[in-house]
Amino acid sequence: MKDIQISIREDLKQKPDQDHLEFGQHFTDHMFLFDYNSEQGWHDPRIVPYGPIVLEPAAMVLHYGQAVFEGMKAFNTNNGNVLLFRPQKNMERLNQSNRRLEIPEIDEEFILHAIQTLINVDKEWIPSGKGTSLYIRPFIIATEPCLGVRAAHNYQLLVILSPVGAYYSEGLEPVKINVESSYSRAVRGGLGTAKAAGNYAASIKAQTEAKEAGYSQVLWLDALERKYVEEVGSMNIFFKINGTVITPELNGSILAGVTRDSIIELLTNWGITVEERRISMDEIYQAHKDHTLEEVFGTGTAAVISPVGELFWDDRQIIINDGCIGELSQQLYDTITGIQTGMVPDTLQWTVQV
Ligand SMILES: *Cc1c(COP(=O)(O)O)cnc(C)c1O
Repeated sequence: MKDIQISIREDLKQKPDQDHLEFGQHFTDHMFLFDYNSEQGWHDPRIVPYGPIVLEPAAMVLHYGQAVFEGMKAFNTNNGNVLLFRPQKNMERLNQSNRRLEIPEIDEEFILHAIQTLINVDKEWIPSGKGTSLYIRPFIIATEPCLGVRAAHNYQLLVILSPVGAYYSEGLEPVKINVESSYSRAVRGGLGTAKAAGNYAASIKAQTEAKEAGYSQVLWLDALERKYVEEVGSMNIFFKINGTVITPELNGSILAGVTRDSIIELLTNWGITVEERRISMDEIYQAHKDHTLEEVFGTGTAAVISPVGELFWDDRQIIINDGCIGELSQQLYDTITGIQTGMVPDTLQWTVQV
């Protein structure tokens, strides 16, 4: 493997108060950088003090948005270990995103090794309170200065780290979600299956309008018919109807979440039927009227499980489980967070020690 040059900063930063960590507001002392050009390929891996980077105003990422990212977490366990949750999946997905955006692929094993090295350098920053973790944000941007529209020849991969607090301060709180009927996030053949910065640019306006109307998230429908459920902001979505758990199939516009995959495997192991298929809002509304819509929850790295207490769809209010968290949602949350922090035996070998 390539050697990673490490320059440690002399003036270590003051760490934030661990009891009041807002998501993505604080960054650790160091970051990882790795450059690409056509002659040398990926080269010069280095860990340097966290700080501003220099980009030309003509850097292609600023004009045409060739940018992909990942999101994962490191957890402190009670016995002093640091664990990552299925990090190989994130590395695989980073390369899937790269392929879709014509960004050169990375050596998955090496980048995981670089992330582990960076975490070790900044391990004092991993918070230890219940529900806290170190959020890891690897991303790749096109740095070549050029206004021509084509794949860039130069890129930079960066990894930054951010200590984050418990997503829920007082237990799992069900969220209210607006079902979006005018805007679209992604369409089959577009960028939806890639973790691309541009997908978020497409979603921000709907997110702002939902917030103004009192909803914390947007539920996206398919962009063609606006009938079938796709996913939520930065989460995949599951419905428990009459004992069966249903989640939209990966249809070419949905992001394949690592948490989604883990939930499906856990439920299957527990003997609960999981269906990956198309599911329409009509079907969900009918289940609500029939009193068979038992639980709805979103899944993603940030929240793990986000119970949904209300869906608002074309003036129709769908209250789920009286707005309370469902039993299965709680059980899934406890199991996954337990595995992540070493409290529940990791029989599926999902964790990797840093
Ligand atoms: C990252 C992301 C998810 C969740 O993926 P995880 O791997 O579970 O964190 C879901 N949808 C979108 C659009 C995302 O960007």
